[in-house]
Amino acid sequence: MNKYNLPRHINEKTKLKIRQNSKFGCVVPNCRNSFYTYEHLIPEYKDAKFHDSEKICLACPTHNPRKEGPEGQANYSKPQLIKFYEELKKSEIGPDIRNKDFFYGLKNPIEIKIGQSTFKNIYSLINIDGIDVLSFKQNQNPEPFEPEIIFSGVFNKVNGDLLFKIMENEWISNTDHWDVQTTNGRITIYDSKNESVFKAQKIPELNRIEITQLNLWYDPFHIKIENGQLLVGRVSKNDSKSIYINLDAIFENSKCAVYLTKESLNKELNFYGFEISGNEGTTLFGNGIHLGRGGGTMRIYSANIMASKNVENKIPKPIIKTPVPKNGNYFVKGVIEEKVIEYPLWTETEYWLNGQKLDARPNSWGIINESGEHLYYLSIGEASDLVLNKGFVGHFADDLLNNEIQDKVFEILVEEIDSDGNNIRKRIKRSDLTSQKIISELNADTQKFYHPHQFAGISPWKE
Ligand SMILES: [Zn+2]
Repeated sequence: MNKYNLPRHINEKTKLKIRQNSKFGCVVPNCRNSFYTYEHLIPEYKDAKFHDSEKICLACPTHNPRKEGPEGQANYSKPQLIKFYEELKKSEIGPDIRNKDFFYGLKNPIEIKIGQSTFKNIYSLINIDGIDVLSFKQNQNPEPFEPEIIFSGVFNKVNGDLLFKIMENEWISNTDHWDVQTTNGRITIYDSKNESVFKAQKIPELNRIEITQLNLWYDPFHIKIENGQLLVGRVSKNDSKSIYINLDAIFENSKCAVYLTKESLNKELNFYGFEISGNEGTTLFGNGIHLGRGGGTMRIYSANIMASKNVENKIPKPIIKTPVPKNGNYFVKGVIEEKVIEYPLWTETEYWLNGQKLDARPNSWGIINESGEHLYYLSIGEASDLVLNKGFVGHFADDLLNNEIQDKVFEILVEEIDSDGNNIRKRIKRSDLTSQKIISELNADTQKFYHPHQFAGISPWKE
């Protein structure tokens, strides 16, 4: 209380008016720090009868005019601050506001929580066609007391305008918001409709930043937090269609957590399928959305697809429906083609066999003819199209009894009792590859015999 019984505390409504008047930062034009206190100008607090929003401005600790001594001499006097304040009040938007404080005290590897999802040691949190929308990098030559990590990011509003950006650990926000509140370690941004569009809190003791509110647009992509969950989606404003992946996961040590690309967009927004793969992370096909790309690990606790009602299911129907043995693995001959795909931050290798893409590189059973074709053993997980197309040799079966397709079985697992009474399991070829002989019995890489010789004991191709 001062002599007029005025408490120090300023009510929230007056504080908001002061923040809006000050355009959310220290009123000193070349400063604009968003870490500030409420500073009574003239009258000073001791002489004030009420908290007048026209006579109180925002000033950062450096530009607090009450400071005296050598430090204070660098500061501005109250009349100078009044001049800055009046100019800011008159202007539509003031100079950008800044916060250099937020990232201090954090160390690498940092943990970032966005909704329920956790990102640990991820180089690029959000990347769009090679452009880091949110990234952090190791500070190579940190000065004493400087943070070990360097953040950069660009955050847009629904109309595509900049909401704020982070340039090498400095928050820079333009000032056409309804409110921006920064306290030590927390940042909240409200849009012109007084809806909070961004909230982040740093927790230095856990070396963590928690983002609890997010609403970002990079046409046609939309990233938001809804009911505490991270949603990454594509939105088509023309026909009011939207599709989102809702993910509860931990991403660790990868190049990129959320990778969005306009290159793999189908023209129409529809559901073209969804896959979680060990190699390529989580993909929403045809909509340019990839999560957990570029190596690292991804532990998924839940994943949902949320689409507007007018989104059609356009998952391609399997071309061939063929009965397969219980085991389902099969043999295809041909030559694997490796394609190295260069992504902005990483490379991936694709394996193709006879014009069809494989999920994984299969084992080779060896070179089987003069033209250098291998016999590959493919897992049931590969596309069933390969089964009846070019190069198909036959199935592997555990058991031929009651098997509808036994004429298409190439190798069979049999059990025999040997002379010592031991149960021996053997893989036996049922048919020859007709005039195709194994050329190379030794695997050049391992200097060991190829698998069928070891396990089947006979080579149908040599005779
Ligand atoms: Zn200042």
